[in-house]
This record gives sequence, structure tokens and C-alpha cells, in this order.
Amino acid sequence: MRTRSLALAGGFVTLFTLGLAFGTQKGPEDKFRQLRELLPTPNEQRTASGAPGKGYWQQRADYVIAVELDEVEKRITGTETITYHNHSPDSLAYLWVQIDPNIFAPESHAVVTSLAPELEGTSYGGLRRTLTRASFDGGAEIRSVTDADGHALTHTVNDTMMRIDLPHALQPGAQVEFTIAWSYLVNDAKKFGGRTGYELFEEDGNAIFELAQWFPRMAAYTDYTGWQHKQFLGSGEFTLEFGDYRVSITVPDDHVVAATGVLQNPDEVLEAEWKERLEQAQGAGKPTFIVTPEEAKANESSKPAGTKTWTFAAEDVRDFAWASSRKFIWDALRHTVAEKPVWAMSFYPNEGEPLWSKYSTHAIVHTLDVYSKFTFPYPYPTAISVNGPVGGMEYPMICFNGPRPEKDGTYSERTKTGLISVVIHEVGHNFFPMIVNSDERQWTWMDEGLNTFLQHLAEQEWEAKYPSGRGEPRDIASYMKSEDQVPIMTNSDSVLQFGSNAYSKPATALNVLRETVMGRELFDFAFRQYARRWMFKRPEPADLFRTLEDASAVDLDWFWNGWFYTTRHVDLALGTIQHWRIDTRDPELEKRLRREKREAEPRSLADQRNESMEKRVERFPELADFYNAYDELDVTDKEREEYAKLLEGLGDEDEALLSQGLHFYVVPVEDQGGLPMPITLGLEYEDGSREDVRIPVEVWRKNPTSVKKLVVTPKVLVRATLDPYLEIADAELADNVWPPALDEKTFQLQESGSGGGRRGRGGPNPMRDALEAEKKKAEEAKPVEAGSGPGSGGSGSGG
Ligand SMILES: [Zn+2]
Repeated sequence: MRTRSLALAGGFVTLFTLGLAFGTQKGPEDKFRQLRELLPTPNEQRTASGAPGKGYWQQRADYVIAVELDEVEKRITGTETITYHNHSPDSLAYLWVQIDPNIFAPESHAVVTSLAPELEGTSYGGLRRTLTRASFDGGAEIRSVTDADGHALTHTVNDTMMRIDLPHALQPGAQVEFTIAWSYLVNDAKKFGGRTGYELFEEDGNAIFELAQWFPRMAAYTDYTGWQHKQFLGSGEFTLEFGDYRVSITVPDDHVVAATGVLQNPDEVLEAEWKERLEQAQGAGKPTFIVTPEEAKANESSKPAGTKTWTFAAEDVRDFAWASSRKFIWDALRHTVAEKPVWAMSFYPNEGEPLWSKYSTHAIVHTLDVYSKFTFPYPYPTAISVNGPVGGMEYPMICFNGPRPEKDGTYSERTKTGLISVVIHEVGHNFFPMIVNSDERQWTWMDEGLNTFLQHLAEQEWEAKYPSGRGEPRDIASYMKSEDQVPIMTNSDSVLQFGSNAYSKPATALNVLRETVMGRELFDFAFRQYARRWMFKRPEPADLFRTLEDASAVDLDWFWNGWFYTTRHVDLALGTIQHWRIDTRDPELEKRLRREKREAEPRSLADQRNESMEKRVERFPELADFYNAYDELDVTDKEREEYAKLLEGLGDEDEALLSQGLHFYVVPVEDQGGLPMPITLGLEYEDGSREDVRIPVEVWRKNPTSVKKLVVTPKVLVRATLDPYLEIADAELADNVWPPALDEKTFQLQESGSGGGRRGRGGPNPMRDALEAEKKKAEEAKPVEAGSGPGSGGSGSGG
């Protein structure tokens, strides 16, 4: 999900800086202070090293669901039985269930708290969406909530959450079974979007249904916040429990269904030739059509004769989504990850061709390979990409992706990489948060940031110079310098500049850790450690922060503080570099050098003008004495003797030191942005050689605003560049070079006389408009001459 940035009046005050948390002090701020006071206290559930503790627990919810899609009414009707396992040490008097379709009710908190749109420049589609939000009611009707014996359970709906009161508190270690029946109208995703909905195709009258958040789902009960039942407002996504699912989906009998999990009844729902093709696809090694484009095209004019029920089962998933349409082409590739077979499959209409059959399934397989390398082997049996109305959204084993070519089948490069990138991103979400199950309702960055980081790595492994939108440090600098922003550590629904805050900045931060702060070897080990520790568990931010330190021996508290808890930006600057050398005490050499320096000094203007003036001493030569011929830079015998004496008194080592001709460069670096970063200096010498000096961030530990580094070299320095490889998101590059460089710019000339249009120099010209209209009327009144072609409406020849 991407949102526009919101402009706030005035500057934004950073609330969560360590300065506030730790109080104020005299002297410079310690940017390396440990975060202990800020992070939650380690406990039996979550250790100080960032791993799950010996007392770690999480709840579990297993689902058996029967659902029917009414294609004509666009209605979902379902019944589910949830078996809820209480693994917590607490007894629970009631349970909370998420009723997400309620976000589509006109009185939902999300709709009612939405702000006025910009009316100026509103499009037809935009206005239609505004009106639909206020009128469409997609809220769920809860038809019944009953216990295992069929007795009604008291339940209370509060917006998108429903409390079910239990007759007896659910004890630790116990489980409870209950059944919910519900129904709701599916949203038209083009008018009222939000991760789910249907898309109607005017040309053939068919729809693609992408169904998500479609069944009452258990709210998570956690060790760190109890029930996570913060309302669904639109940005904060889903905080869910793992469980096993068995889902029976009844749809028109000419539909093809794609869903989380493995199809349990292929003999009942698949055509004989589709099963044969699946068989052949096993060893094909490339995407193979199961339903061909021609068959899908023909299916568009089919009329259903009844319904079919597709049954899917999935183990250890935190959610379940599905898609259904008679328009679907279906291709499949059987891949292997760590010796386990995975079906990579794509479902899309002919409108997605030829882009989808070429790229979607390949992008799925590529994602599984790259992500598995950096985390853990993909553990699920399928991975599916579906094209429909939703631009990009993830669920376990299945995701929805929007890009399509033009109607004529051509496409821009942006559309092509848009599809590859969104498939990588949404399939990648299987790792974060579908398996590393972070609390999305609270933290968007924990899944989006980590996933975007890996997306960038996968994109760079797709083809050379892949145009990744997020990940390179230089691309985040202007956002980090911008005014209207909040720290990454901000609740999802309060985030400003959503895409930059929760996707790009954390992704870039991880990239900077990997390339610059920690190095690839240490980072990759530590990141993999985090993924594996928290696979099928629920990590909090501190678990990530602590694990990356724990596995690398790199103190990162300064980094988490600067990048995640503040809105400071990076801006290092080079000061004037001092060039020092040792005075050799050799009067011949030193005085010669001083003379050269004196001669190179600029002469004052008055001195130059006075040169030709006749001086008194010239007129009266008797006034000249010793001092008129004396030059203090002439070497005297006395000085030569003293130098010889000095050398005699020195040992060989000291004499060598005095004469080895080293250059000492004192390089001042200032931190003008307030976010300390490691310093990389690119040094270029007179002889054409160059070297890089890399200095870890701890260089700032005693003075956070200004430091000086000494460079000792026998070579003459001609140029120095700070951050020569653009690694640290430095917001101001002009002050990174010494000596300062010209600011190279170009400007373009406008053609003269461009004011000749209708709204030319003098503004609108209604007089000319009236004259033209009169002329046109007169032309139309003329009888058409025989053989004069297609009428006489043209303005050119009529004259
Ligand atoms: Zn995402």
C-alpha cells in the first residue's frame, strides 16, 4: 500500500528522541548511549539476546470453513468453526475476533475518520470512489455465534472487532470450539478498494473475485500487549495467529479457483486435461499452461450450469485468501526449494497477456530462491500470483498483483518491471510477515521494511542495472531531510509519508548495515539468525535490534536510535583540509621553501602601484645601509653550523624522521545532519593514484558534531571526497568534496513567439471565438458542391 504524504502546518516535533527519554545534560549528547532504558525489559518470553525465551508462547487457531460466492449478488456467505488453543498462562473470559469487512460499512471508524479529499482536480473515478465510500455497505452480518453444542454465545461488535463472551473462562492449556455464520457484500474494488474485492469487465460481463479478510479471524493475544484489537483503520494491517485451515469454496461451476494451501479434491473440480497438464508440468522446468489463454477466452462466454466446491487445506498459516473467475488462465511450474517441491503458479485473465505468462511464475520462483538464501528455505507447498483488481497484496502462499499491458499487448518498461517487482514483493511477504509473524497492526515497517530490503536484493539478482525504486541510500536522502515525517518507530495508522517511512527508509537502513556498517558477511549471518529464530513466531522490534547485535558483535544502538527512533538525517561535510609537514631544520631547504612561499604570495594593490614611484633612498643613496641589502631568508654560516650541531646530537632514527618528507593532512569532518555515520574518505594524489580510508562510526563517540582525522602519506593530496560511493544517504553532497567543485548546471531556452495559442499573450480572446463561430455557421449554411469530397467543414480551404 502506498499513500500520499500529508502536509502538516508548521514543523513536526520529534517526540521519541533519546534526548527526551534520558533527560538533558551539559556537554555533547552521547549518541552511543545504550538503548536499555528504551527497549522493553527482557523476560522469559523474549531474551536480552533477541531470541524467544524459554517461556515463549503464542496462541493457535484452527479453522474449518465452508463459504459460498454468489456471483450475481456479489455476496459471500460462510460458516466457520474455530478451535482456539490457549497457550498463554492466562485464563480468558472472552475472545476477540476480527470482522474486517466492517471497514466497508459507512459508519466504520475508517470511513468516518477519513479526511476531506482535495476537490479541486477531482476525476470522475475519484468522485465515484468518494461517493461509494459514503454509501456502500460491505459490513458483515453476523448471523450466529454458537458453541460446540449449538448454544448461542453472547457477542458484541465494536467496529471491526467482535467480543465473544465465554460461559466459562478458557483456562491456560485448554481449547475451545465455536462456530460463526456470516455474510457480506463484496466491494467493487475499482470504486472502493482495499486489498480485496471484485473487478467487473464491461466487455464480457465477467468478474474476477479476489477475496481476503473475508472470514472472522481470531485477534492475536500476545505476551507484550494482551489482545491486539486496535481497530482496522486501513493502514495497520493484520496481526494473526497460526493454525491449520480446511476451506471449502463453492463457486459457479465454470470458475477456476486459486487459494492458500493444497487442493484436496482435484478429481471433483479439475477437467481431465488440466490434470494431465499438471502431470506433464512436474518435470517441464518452465511455466506450463494448465488452462490455456484460448480456453480462458472461450470460457468468458460460458454460462454456469450449477456450482462446484473446491476444498483446500493449509497447515501452519496465519491467514487464508482465494480468487475465483471464469476468466483465469492458469500456468504452473514445479520448483524445488531445499529438496521440497513447491508449485509456483499464476492465475490471470487474457487482459494480462503476454506479460503474465512470460514473467509472473518466473518471478515467483526467483523470489523463493533469493529469499530462501537470505532467511530459511520456503516451507509451503505452493506459491501463487493472481492478477485482478488489487494492485499488490500478500497472503500465505497466494498474492494479488495488478500490472497489465496495454489492450494491444504492448507495455512500457515501467509496467514490465512494475509486474516483476510487485510479484517479488508480494511473494516475498510469505517470509515477512506470513512466517516471521510480526505485529502488522502496530508496525508496518517490520514486514514492509524487511521485505522491501530483500526485494531490492532479489531485483538486483534478476538482471543487471534493474531499476529498483527502493534500497539505494542516495534515494532516501531527500525524504530523510524532509519536514513532515515521523520516526520509523511510529504506529502504522499515524505514519506520515507511508511508503518512504515504512518501506524505503527501513529497507535502506538494512542495506546500509549490510554494505557499510556491518559488512555483508556479518550482516547476512545475523539477519538469517533473526529470520530463523522468529520463523513461525511473533517478533517485536527489540527482538530484531538485539539479534542483529547479538550475532555480529557490532554495537548498533546508535544506529537503531538515529534511524528508527528519530527523524534526523545524514549530512556529513568536509572542512578545509590542513597540510602539515615537518620542519627539517635544514636552513638551506627551509629558507628556500619560505622564499618560494613568499614569492607566491599575492602583492597588495598599493604595493604594485607604488613600485614605479621614485623613493627617497634612491635619490639619496647615502641613506642605504646593511638592512637595505639584508634578507632574513639568506642562509648564514651560523645557521649552517647550528644545523650540523643539531644533526650530530640526534640518533639515526630521529634524523631519519626529520628528513623522510611525509605529508600530514588533517581532515576535518562535520556532522551537520545529527545522525552519525561511518566516514569513508576517497583520497586522490598528485601521481594519479587513489585510496579509500574507511573509519567506523565510533569516531564520533566523544564529539558528535566535529572530528578531525590525520592522514599521513608520502604523496601529495590533490582531492578528497567524503562518501565517494554514496553509501550513507548523505543529504548534501556539495560539501563532500575538497577542493570544492563547480556546481555544473544547464538551462534550456524557450522558443520565442510561443504565446500564439488561444490563450496567448493577451489572455482569452472571446472576440476571435465569436468571429470563428460566425464563420463556421456561414460555412454550414452553404449548399454542398457536387464532387467536393467529404463536406466543407474544414477551416483551411473555405476562406
Ligand atoms: Zn508489502
